Amino acid sequence: MLSKLENKLQFLNSKSSVWSVIEDISNNKNQDEAFYVCDVGNIIEKYFNWKKFMPRVETYYAVKCNDHPLVLETLASLGIGFDCASQDEISKILNLNVEPSRIIYANPTKPETHIKYAEDVNVLRMTFDNAWELEKIKNSHPKAELILRIKYDDEKARYKYGCKFGCNHITQAPELLARAKQLEIKVVGVSFHIGSVIKTPEVYSAAIEAARYVFDVATNLGFEFNILDIGGGFPGAHGTSIEEVSKIINEGINLHFSDPSIAIVAEPGTYYVESAFTIATRIHSITVTEPDPTGLYTYMYYVYAGTYTTFLGLFFGEHYVPQALNKNIYEKKYPTIIWGPTCDSSDKICENVNMPRMNIGDWIVFENVGAYTLTLATNFNGIPTPKVYGVVCEQMWNELKDIMRVPQKFHLQMKENVSQFLEKIVDMQQ
Ligand SMILES: *Cc1c(COP(=O)(O)O)cnc(C)c1O
Repeated sequence: MLSKLENKLQFLNSKSSVWSVIEDISNNKNQDEAFYVCDVGNIIEKYFNWKKFMPRVETYYAVKCNDHPLVLETLASLGIGFDCASQDEISKILNLNVEPSRIIYANPTKPETHIKYAEDVNVLRMTFDNAWELEKIKNSHPKAELILRIKYDDEKARYKYGCKFGCNHITQAPELLARAKQLEIKVVGVSFHIGSVIKTPEVYSAAIEAARYVFDVATNLGFEFNILDIGGGFPGAHGTSIEEVSKIINEGINLHFSDPSIAIVAEPGTYYVESAFTIATRIHSITVTEPDPTGLYTYMYYVYAGTYTTFLGLFFGEHYVPQALNKNIYEKKYPTIIWGPTCDSSDKICENVNMPRMNIGDWIVFENVGAYTLTLATNFNGIPTPKVYGVVCEQMWNELKDIMRVPQKFHLQMKENVSQFLEKIVDMQQ
């Protein structure tokens, strides 16, 4: 798989970078459509960074966040697990030769056909939060190992899941566990997801404590729980860090789950991919608004990548920061609106931004577009999904690919000297 991945990558040396690759591609006269550059090295760096801050927590990447082959192949090579939510996602991951034991089918409400498929391909672990699901699993996949999803929302998170998934750990969980016991189904742990783009990391602490309560109820009922799944919600943009949230999580784990035989797992999506993708999009049309009372015009640029190809997060309160390619930062700036290519007036990428004067054929770049962009893309108005170019720092790749071939050995080595490795990688990237 590594050589397959390698063939798709362009190598960066001391003279090149994601931005220089963008310049090269955009300088091609025939390049009209928008394109992404995916820095696989950035994903690998995230992996080491996670090991540094939360060595006890194993990651199961949430496939729904970005299922591009460059992402999935890189993460599979690193030996991590996957959080899949449907038959198709499971099959995608198994096609990469990932062991079924490295998959959690983390959708609490599943069609029977998908549950049967999981049984066929030997995926055992799946989440649930209600009694109907228990009956279905009993009929379709009686050897499954279930993880009970409890509800714990960060009320300030951009995306909350509690209105749709998760049971109350006090009023509902004990009854559901008793029902599972009656049906002789194996329940092995607890999961939660406090939301995506979270604002209140302390909620992890409360959720871990609630999970402990459910573990104790389960022990009393005769279950042997062995897994705590703390979900996603970890920041992934350039300049963000998981240091603060890791302190809260490590503290909660040490306090409530000090028994090392319990596996602690997380399902980061955004964390792994958000900063790895950058998009460049060409201006194909320009207009101006009428002048405002002070005589000021707003420039309106129309570009190839829009809400429906890339920026669907706009509908959920996400915002994206435009940068002009090849413009001096000291140039005078003007009020600007950037529109996507479709005929829909809600296809507006940004407004109230200040940018230098741009011409038709100039390019605008957006960083941090790896999370919930490609997987949400539509073909609305016949606009194609932008192509992805993969890059990686050559020196880093050469150092890592031998260890990446042998995930187990890789893991052992990492436990000993993650910090040194991380420092080395960061040096190489600069
Ligand atoms: C969406 C989702 C994730 C990933 O969330 P991020 O905030 O992107 O890390 C993880 N687990 C489950 C069950 C999800 O639905």
